[in-house]
Amino acid sequence: MQNALIRLADCAMAFDGDVVLDNINLEIRDKEFLTLLGPSGCGKTTTLNIIGGFKKPTRGDVFFDGVRINDVPPHKRHVNTVFQKYALFTHLNVYENVAFGLRLVKPKLSEAEIERRVTEMLDVVSLHGFERRDSSSLSGGQQQRVAIARALVLKPRVLLLDEPLGALDLRLRKDMQNELKRIQQAMDITFIYVTHDQEEALAMSDTIVVMDGGAIQQVGSPEDIYNEPQNAFVADFVGESNIVDGTMPQDGVVEFFGRKFKCLDGGFAPNEPVDVVIRPEDVDIVPPGAGVLIGTVTNITFKGVHYDIIVDFHGFKWLIQTTDLSPLGAKIGIKLDPDCIHVMKKSKYSGMFGDYSSYSAEYDDISDVSVGIDEDTDYAE
Ligand code: ATP
Repeated sequence: MQNALIRLADCAMAFDGDVVLDNINLEIRDKEFLTLLGPSGCGKTTTLNIIGGFKKPTRGDVFFDGVRINDVPPHKRHVNTVFQKYALFTHLNVYENVAFGLRLVKPKLSEAEIERRVTEMLDVVSLHGFERRDSSSLSGGQQQRVAIARALVLKPRVLLLDEPLGALDLRLRKDMQNELKRIQQAMDITFIYVTHDQEEALAMSDTIVVMDGGAIQQVGSPEDIYNEPQNAFVADFVGESNIVDGTMPQDGVVEFFGRKFKCLDGGFAPNEPVDVVIRPEDVDIVPPGAGVLIGTVTNITFKGVHYDIIVDFHGFKWLIQTTDLSPLGAKIGIKLDPDCIHVMKKSKYSGMFGDYSSYSAEYDDISDVSVGIDEDTDYAE
C-alpha cells in the first residue's frame, strides 16, 4: 500500500471517563475519497475532529505525512472542514464568502490573485456567475457549494466533510454526491467524508470505514464491504441482510434451521457458533417442491424495480427481493447457492428482525439433515 497521508495509531477518546472511541487504527492514503460510515453516536464526528485537530485523543497518535501532529492546532494542519450547517456569512455575497479566508492569508494576497482564485473555485463548484448573489438567497445545494468553495480555496491537502448533504432533499443529495466526487477528482486531494447513509458511502467512496460502538468494524472498498462483510453488523448496516444463527460442522458446510448447507467459508472451530448472512437479492424463489426451504409470503411491498416480500419460515421472517410477484399467502420454495451463504464469526449483533436464537433451538431435534441444497427435503412443511 502507498504510504499513508494520515495515520491514526491506537487512538482512543473518552469524555468524563466514558470511552467513546477505542483502538482506532487507520491509514488514509493521499488523494483517496474515504468515508466514515456508521449509525448515530458511533464516533464518526469524534474521529473527524481528531484528524482536524479540534479534539485531542486521550490515547494514541495522529500522524500527517509521517509527522506526529497531536499538538498541532487545526489552523496549522493542511486540513479544512465542511459541516452540515453551511455556516456562510449571510451578510456577505458569494464572492466575499469564498474570498474571506484568502483575505486573512499572510503575506497579503493581491486583489487580482484573490479574484483569480475565487473565480477558479466557483468554476470548480459550478457556481460561475453567482459572484454577486446574496448568500441567503441561494438554495441549500448552492449554499453547500459555496461552503465547499470556501473550504477549498485555501488549497488544503485534505477536506473533511461532516454529513454535508444531510440537510438536502433526496434528489439534490444524489446530484451533490456526483458533484462531490467530481470536485474531489478535479482538486486531486483527499476527502474524508462522514455519513450514516450507506448508499451515499457506496456511491462515492474509494474506501469505506464502517464504525459501530466507537470501534472500526471493517475497512475496505465499497465492493469488499458489500460482498464480503466481516461481521453481521456490517452485513446488516451496509445493504439489507437476513441473519440467522448457525454452526460450522466442518469447512464448506454450515448448519442452520436444523439443516446442512454447502458454503464457501471455512477456518472455524468444529461446530463453532456462527452468524449466517443471506442477502435478500441472493435468494432464488422456486416452486415449493423444488425448494430447500418452504415458507409463506406474509407481506409484499412494490419497490419499483422489484418487490420486497417477507417470507415466514415457521416464525422466522426473511426479506427476499424478487421481480416475480408471489401473491400474499402463497407457499414458495427457495434455493440458496453456496456462494450466497456468507458465514461470519459470531457478533453480539442480532440483525434487522431481532434476535432469533430461539429459532434454532426449536429445530434442534431435526437430525436427518442432508448436505447440499439440491436434495429433496421435507424440512419446511
Ligand atoms: P452522529 O452521526 O449522531 O453525529 P457520530 O457517529 O458522529 O454521531 P460522535 O458525535 O462522534 O458520533 O459521538 C460519539 C459519542 O461521543 C456519542 O455518544 C456522543 O454523545 C459522545 N460525545 C461526543 N462529543 C462529546 C462531548 N464533547 N462530551 C461528551 N460526550 C461527547
